[in-house]
Amino acid sequence: MNATTITLGTIGVLISLVCWAVFFSGVWRIIASIRLGQRDGTRNGPFVPRLSQMIVEFLGHTKMVKFRTVGWAHWLVMIGFILGSLLWFEAYGETFDPHFHWPLFGATHVWLFIAELLGWGTVIGILVLMVIRQLNHPRVPGRMSRFSGSVFSAAYFVEWVVLIEGLGMIMVKAGKISSGVEEPPIWTSFGTHFVAKALPASLMMVSVFALIKLLSGMIWLFMVGRKVTWGVAWHRLSAFFNIYFKRELGSKRALGAAKPMMSGGKVLEMEDADPDVDAFGAGKIEDFSWKGWLDFTTCTECGRCQSQCPAWNTGKPLSPKLLIMSLRDHGFAKAPYLLAGGKTDMAGDEVGLVGPDGKPDEAALAKIPAAARAEAGRKMVGESAEMIEAGELAPVIDYETLWSCTSCGACVEQCPVDIEHVDHIIDMRRYQVLIESEFPSELAGLFKNLENKGNPWGQNSKDRINWVNEVEFEVPVYGRDADSFDGYEYLFWVGCAGAYEDRAKKTTKAVAELLNVAAVDYLVLGEGETCTGDSARRAGNEFLFQQLAMQNIETFNDLFDGVPQERRKIVVTCAHCFNALSNEYPQVGGHYEVVHHTQLLNKLVRDKRLIPVAPVEGSEQITYHDPCFLGRHNQVYDAPRELIGASAATLTEMPRHGERSLCCGAGGARMWMEENIGKRINIERVDEALDTLGSGTTTQKIATGCPFCRVMLTDGVTARQESGQGEGVEVVDVAQLILDGVRRGGAAPTKELKKQPAKPAAAAATTVVETAPAAAPAEEAPKTAAPKPAVKGLGMAGAAKAPGGAKAPGKGLGMAGGAKAPGGAKAPGAKGLGLAGGAKAPGAKKAAPAAQAPVEAPAAETPAMETPAKPAGLSVKAKGLGMAGGAKAPGAKKPGAPKTAAPAAEPASEATPATEAPAAEAPAKPAGLSVKAKGLGMAGGAKAPGARRSAPAAPKSEPAPEAPAAETQAAEAPEAPTTATPQADDKPALSVKPKGLGMRGGAKPPGKR
Ligand code: SF4
Ligand code: SF4
Repeated sequence: MNATTITLGTIGVLISLVCWAVFFSGVWRIIASIRLGQRDGTRNGPFVPRLSQMIVEFLGHTKMVKFRTVGWAHWLVMIGFILGSLLWFEAYGETFDPHFHWPLFGATHVWLFIAELLGWGTVIGILVLMVIRQLNHPRVPGRMSRFSGSVFSAAYFVEWVVLIEGLGMIMVKAGKISSGVEEPPIWTSFGTHFVAKALPASLMMVSVFALIKLLSGMIWLFMVGRKVTWGVAWHRLSAFFNIYFKRELGSKRALGAAKPMMSGGKVLEMEDADPDVDAFGAGKIEDFSWKGWLDFTTCTECGRCQSQCPAWNTGKPLSPKLLIMSLRDHGFAKAPYLLAGGKTDMAGDEVGLVGPDGKPDEAALAKIPAAARAEAGRKMVGESAEMIEAGELAPVIDYETLWSCTSCGACVEQCPVDIEHVDHIIDMRRYQVLIESEFPSELAGLFKNLENKGNPWGQNSKDRINWVNEVEFEVPVYGRDADSFDGYEYLFWVGCAGAYEDRAKKTTKAVAELLNVAAVDYLVLGEGETCTGDSARRAGNEFLFQQLAMQNIETFNDLFDGVPQERRKIVVTCAHCFNALSNEYPQVGGHYEVVHHTQLLNKLVRDKRLIPVAPVEGSEQITYHDPCFLGRHNQVYDAPRELIGASAATLTEMPRHGERSLCCGAGGARMWMEENIGKRINIERVDEALDTLGSGTTTQKIATGCPFCRVMLTDGVTARQESGQGEGVEVVDVAQLILDGVRRGGAAPTKELKKQPAKPAAAAATTVVETAPAAAPAEEAPKTAAPKPAVKGLGMAGAAKAPGGAKAPGKGLGMAGGAKAPGGAKAPGAKGLGLAGGAKAPGAKKAAPAAQAPVEAPAAETPAMETPAKPAGLSVKAKGLGMAGGAKAPGAKKPGAPKTAAPAAEPASEATPATEAPAAEAPAKPAGLSVKAKGLGMAGGAKAPGARRSAPAAPKSEPAPEAPAAETQAAEAPEAPTTATPQADDKPALSVKPKGLGMRGGAKPPGKR
């Protein structure tokens, strides 16, 4: 120690005092901001499992290693940061005295060896990460880059600081060796030893190296203290908490069930929710829970989520990374206003900083930075282009961005710090649906059909058992053939698609036949089934979900009355129903043993109750598409593959499979929405499948385990076949593969054949096709059969295709209510629906069941029945629901906000004529719905809090009476479908201006893999 080293040491200490102060001010800002979020007490415990899971996840880097090279490199940097901090603090002493080391362990050989590993590990690790970032830099046009949109300045800063830190560890130690301060054995300094040989013997040099090492850390503290949005730096601290507090313990993370809608720490139920008091989803940044704020803070901008997102990869404006970053930037920008006590009501008027007279406290507001006040006036979700054009601030999240999500969970699965994107997206959708009534017009039809008919297609409930009449064996129906669960092992939950959709019905029949062959005692609910509500929930209509769930749970309670919990078994073919029944119904009091049909069939094969016989060797080539709600959301990956193995077909995996499987595009209620931007996701997936199958002379099939996937993939294959690709490729359910194998073995149903002879002719024709599966494309054959039996009003899937004619672009069932048929073109109509779609307004007591009059009548499928927006008998509490701003008529556009995508009329061939009439999409204001202006709809969104809403309020109300007419006109425009045609898929709509979140230049061309 000498005067110079003392001076160096003193400089280091003084600078560090400033840096630590700035750093802790940043910590305080972050903690204070996180505390602005809603309470959520569900994540605190159990302490030990959460802690141990967090330790395993960070020490084992279990998420990071999914990108292998990054995994080990990041692990080295992380350990270098945690343990290397001891070496960094040691530099305080070393600047004063080059001989300084930690007492007790600082001079031990073990510690010197560890220090050696830390130094070299940090340098090697960060160099690898730096190279990877450059190799993936989006500067090269057309390059796939998960870093598109990430803040590079922050990343570069962190990388260089880490590199200097690592070099500092090495150089200080090498300096000590070269100057004789330390003489460690070579095994403790295998690399530093050689560096030391190149250095002079100088104690001063040791102090200088130590000061550089110290100051590099200080710069880091100073900068991140000032930049609280630099998640790439802050995740070093916040990631531990984020992982500890993740929603679900174990591998599910925030997958499986959707997060219940919560406000103020309590779960909202429609019986007692009050929009005056409760936050319905997230309409403002402070509506997110503290865990949401922690998520936003923790995002490292690594872009793993983005790289897996089907929306981003097909050219949609949604990137889960950019969405989280936008929420983060907005949150921290608005935080000063919120921390000062600012608060706005739903109309955008200041209610937080007000004087005794109730007027805004201008003096208090003036103390808030203008930027924060402006940020507070930003709307959370809106049409970016329109708002900017109108001179308003762009919304935080663009409308198209929000509704592009398929809830596939790929982002959550990949995120190394367990950010819960899907929860946040659903919460924002909830607000849009329940409060703002702003949602894609196609969903209006979906909500109405679910409300009125209990299924997305608006079919009659009695038609749920049509398929039962189309099979050769007995299928016991609860209430018809059985009045209790006695003697049965499984309830076979058929699901809406499985009951109504022709392609999905093949799966239903195959599973029923297999259960029959294996002598499994099961029954079905028949008419008693109602949609599980999965689509409603993922679309944000939480109360409609709750209503449907309660209805089903009542049925289950009746069926399972007196049956022990462990015997309440349900087998499901739909991955969405599977997820809802097994993961979401427990949230509303329904607890059952739910298995997916692939799991049960696999067990039956293992138990030799089903014995498939292999096809001629090599005659069948299969690739398997993992349904997101079976795979990622529920980790069922093996059962379907084992079944394919049992069928002895040759399975070739697609590049994206298992936990990285690409969504088919149907989840998150996207099944019912049009896809106007970029490449269609189902086409992207089918392209991958066709590439995988290649060309060959064998029978080629794409197998899956979900009716939604099956419909989407079939549409995609059909589209490609129309352009000459994928000739002969067929989309099947795994159950059909097994059934084919079992039939090859000659197995016959174990139960009695039907006694009733009155089988409809068409049903018999269908069965004939089913019994000759290998001969012809099983998907198409039934559609060319005789007219469909007993389907009133709506054309079932067969009706989508003119008999003997070319298949229409839109497939599947025609939908009542003007909703989009899956895979079909957009239904006409306006965005949103005045009434939120829920059958019961929150806060209202449960209403009497909706009037059933329309349900059974064939005429129910006509426009006349679908036009009324609200069925009679529903109890509607005006407050909080529906009318944005109290000025917008239901279904009408907001003034000055024309919907860009002109509603395209369904092609005549796509559905039965009666169902798609434009009138269905011009929902009249529900009779008797009293529109209460209070607290509704911050339509303008741009007004700074504190300022009184001025002139815009008046114009907003003007167009309201005219809006329905305008929408009807638009609906009637004879515009061709814009997206269902294959050519639209080949060239993604690059001209579509990215909104809101901005896909930066250099982003991968949409749709390019
Ligand atoms: S859930 Fe899927 S579609 Fe939605 S943001 Fe995540 S990866 Fe994208
Ligand atoms: S959300 Fe997660 S995966 Fe996506 S960029 Fe942020 S840290 Fe990475």
